Amino acid sequence: MEEKLCLDCGTPIKVGRKDKKFCDDTCRTNYNNNKDKTELSVGDYIKKIQNILEKNRQILDEVLGPDRDKRSIDKRDLLGRGFNVKYFTSRAPTRQGDIYCFCFELGFREFEDETIMVVRREREVIC
Ligand SMILES: [Zn+2]
Repeated sequence: MEEKLCLDCGTPIKVGRKDKKFCDDTCRTNYNNNKDKTELSVGDYIKKIQNILEKNRQILDEVLGPDRDKRSIDKRDLLGRGFNVKYFTSRAPTRQGDIYCFCFELGFREFEDETIMVVRREREVIC
């Protein structure tokens, strides 16, 4: 006799209907609620983060413009452009010892007065 496991909790299902996939409605509901999360593959997840990082870099680049290597911006302004402070490629100190978060070659640092300093450097330090 073929044993089937509940798709949600993994409990062996007692033979009833042949196409039964869950113990009960609770497991069915739970499974369907979590479906979207479980269907995100590792590849999709990586791509999603890469997109966030590239978007962050693009936003910092726009903030600085072509002529500046340093600029202070209101935090709300930066977030309003879609910047996500949770994602960056590295954390590194400047020559003055301030820790900046970098999205590739462009860095940012939050200050207590809700402003963010944006900086550019030639190349991200890899260490
Ligand atoms: Zn179950």
